[in-house]
Amino acid sequence: MSSSTVMRSLFPSLETGADFLRTIARIAVSDGIRYTLFAGTAWLLGYVWLRPRWARRKILPANPARQDVWREIRYSLRTVVIYGLVGVTTLWATQRGWTRLYLDLSARGAFWFWASIAMTIVLHDTYFYWTHRLLHHRRIFRWAHVAHHRSTNPSPWAAYAFAPAEAVVQAGIFPLAVCLYPIHPLAFLIFMLWQVGFNVLGHAGFEIYPRALMDSWLGKVLNTPTNHVMHHEFVRGNYGLYFNVWDRLMGTNHECYEARFREVTTR
Ligand SMILES: [Zn+2]
Ligand SMILES: [Zn+2]
Repeated sequence: MSSSTVMRSLFPSLETGADFLRTIARIAVSDGIRYTLFAGTAWLLGYVWLRPRWARRKILPANPARQDVWREIRYSLRTVVIYGLVGVTTLWATQRGWTRLYLDLSARGAFWFWASIAMTIVLHDTYFYWTHRLLHHRRIFRWAHVAHHRSTNPSPWAAYAFAPAEAVVQAGIFPLAVCLYPIHPLAFLIFMLWQVGFNVLGHAGFEIYPRALMDSWLGKVLNTPTNHVMHHEFVRGNYGLYFNVWDRLMGTNHECYEARFREVTTR
């Protein structure tokens, strides 16, 4: 593929309504394929192929109900379309010179490329924690976040199961990052793989880390599937995403979190 073809696919022409629709579809389909690969693999591993072997690591003993899983998949389909809408709007703003997305990989070198991915992970963790706290405000929760909390025993497909308003908030990391610092579309794509992988892991329902994690410094920093499944179980507490730092700083970890992690990992 020539470099101009790569540029065109990273940066489509947005002159007509048909260009917009095509780009929304392209973003939604590529997001949907990535999501299906990650969530589908987690589903097959946890609930089909390795079910007996992993059963003791299931954080909540029951399996998610079939109708809940189908609802999560329906909501997730809507979410990837909304990601397409936010994505095309951000690309349109970039064409007008309003963002800092850059296309020439050599312009900023390898160090910045990888640093921009790390920055986006840290930024997203902070963005997620605080927008998540806001989504739990009593005036906002019912119309923006209750859809996600209908999954009280989440499956991997709950990772993108959002109400439309929450999907817009979740997609907001893309325009936010590209407005704050230079980032290449490929760097953002690598971030998205991290994002969907971590998100699916947090909703899959299984604790994968060893018990020793909670006794080490890493356990105070890294978030765990137990942490997020407890958020779905109790609705209050454990608002973090990748790291447990904001929950510790703000005192919002569920009081039973560490004990629950130890219980799940010693069965
Ligand atoms: Zn969740
Ligand atoms: Zn929540």
